[in-house]
Amino acid sequence: MAGDATGTSWARRAWLPLLAAVLALSTAQPASAAGGDARPTLRFGGDADYPPYHFLDDAGHADGFDVALTRAIADDLGMDAAFELGDWGDALEGLERGDVDLVPMFWSEARSRRFVFTEPILLRHHGLFGHYETPTVESLEALANVRVAVQESGLAWEALRELDRPGVTIIALDNEAETLALVARGGADYALAPTGIGYHAIQNSHLPGIVALSPPLLERKYVFGLARGNERLAARINDSLEHLRRDGVQNRLYVEWIGGPAPPDRAGGPRPAPATLWILGALAAVLLGGLTWLSRGRDRTRPAAARGSPPIVPDPQLMAELRESIAAGSLGFALQPKVDLRSGRVIGAELLARWDHPRLGPLAPDAFVPMAERMGCIGEMTLHLVRRGLEHGRDWPVAAGRLHVSINVSANDLADSALVDAILEACSGGGPSLMLEVTETEVMREPERVAVALPRLRAHGIRISVDDFGAGHSSLVNLRRLGPDELKIDRSFVGALLASHSDRAIVRATIHLGHELGAKVAAEGIEDEATRDWLMRAGCDIGQGYALHRPMSPADFLALLHARA
Ligand code: C2E
Ligand code: CA
Ligand code: CA
Repeated sequence: MAGDATGTSWARRAWLPLLAAVLALSTAQPASAAGGDARPTLRFGGDADYPPYHFLDDAGHADGFDVALTRAIADDLGMDAAFELGDWGDALEGLERGDVDLVPMFWSEARSRRFVFTEPILLRHHGLFGHYETPTVESLEALANVRVAVQESGLAWEALRELDRPGVTIIALDNEAETLALVARGGADYALAPTGIGYHAIQNSHLPGIVALSPPLLERKYVFGLARGNERLAARINDSLEHLRRDGVQNRLYVEWIGGPAPPDRAGGPRPAPATLWILGALAAVLLGGLTWLSRGRDRTRPAAARGSPPIVPDPQLMAELRESIAAGSLGFALQPKVDLRSGRVIGAELLARWDHPRLGPLAPDAFVPMAERMGCIGEMTLHLVRRGLEHGRDWPVAAGRLHVSINVSANDLADSALVDAILEACSGGGPSLMLEVTETEVMREPERVAVALPRLRAHGIRISVDDFGAGHSSLVNLRRLGPDELKIDRSFVGALLASHSDRAIVRATIHLGHELGAKVAAEGIEDEATRDWLMRAGCDIGQGYALHRPMSPADFLALLHARA
């Protein structure tokens, strides 16, 4: 889970500067201050958590491409190398003070006034990363009304501040991996990060669904920066770099650390499941192939076979296993309580599909729902989950009141009259009331198909929620015609609403709109009490999110209802 991965990375960061300081005390001597027979020392400064370029491994040792290259340079110059890795801002200041001799960094105009640079060691660029359903962006100038997470004092931070676009909220964090984790939690729309770092963080922090959404941006030379006045050392390093290039050493290190087929899990994070790897690999290939798929799927939407399949080539074995699992009815689900914000009462639960894969472990819906859509067995999956959700709901205590179970469906499902028949049949056995969640984008894409199914569903007491509301493009005419029972505000507006005036304005307007249309308004992705209180005061009816309840097993949900009843 993204939150857990982030917790670990923060915990790691808390002790890294301390460890770095201890290491620095025990190993560093200035390049110029070596006495006797001891070799002079080349002192390297940098970030403690910047894999695969430079970082401290779990044992507290410096490692990575920049570190290996610096060792090779020091060796070539007849020096020892010492590494001081800690906070990134401190590394830059330490370089100016002369505490270290060199810090690898992106070239920038502003930095060229502070430091002298060696010849480039690499050519690197940044990219905008976000959820795969977030619109792609061609350039930084095209950003509008979005929250972008960047590392404080990093090149991306410098560039966005210089650009100074109204409507672009910069969220500055200590660490680049943390910018991607924030996006995964819905707290920012994009992370602007060096491309290699971005892919590394997605893999090591296990952030499925986060992908690159821009062509290469901020293409820059990656160089060693040295303090002004240190031009002689810079010239010696340049000579060394020339030797290392000539002898193929630099290239070998590049392939080992960055350009190889499968970067090793050096940062100690959990290894992603192979399913995640193929999705990431395929998306990376798509990106290199010119962003063709991404420019088709600009809206935040639940993938559906009817809209053309994303060009991912899933593992055939996994596809066969999913088909079997759906046919055998062994796909599981979690329930996340939906709460009446005013009374605090549980009024229902959203059913979230779960696949506990025998080899790969638990897989999130993003890893298999799109696959079920591509294989054309999503309808079968939906029906299975509707049946299981209703069946489970028949065990809920009467004292809990009449609750509803909310199930995610695609517009395609609703267009399938045989499936609608089967859903109505499943409801005839009694149990909780059923609500179907369809994303805003799908409703708007297929308004006719949804409108045809609606009267039949309504006649049987089944309600419709427009999911991810605000993330797509609604036509008010279609919305009025649909007459939804619930508008569910997309979590990208909820996560950081206390920090964003525009998010608060959008949420307030949605609450009014929903009520005008006679719908209840739900907010998902509520991660703290203050956000819940604000939403309640703003008139939002229903809340869902980690601050209220995390998704839980059906047994735990039952226990919760009994405890409340
Ligand atoms: P969704 O419909 O927007 O579902 C809510 C997602 O937000 C769930 O992720 C839930 O675990 C997560 N969530 C809940 N509270 C919070 C919070 O406070 N903060 C954050 N950051 N996230 C929160 P999950 O279970 O991974 O589901 C992801 C998506 O997969 C769903 O998004 C839905 O689009 C799709 N999905 C899940 N189950 C099904 C299903 O049975 N059928 C279909 N067609 N799609 C499904
Ligand atoms: Ca949903
Ligand atoms: Ca949603």
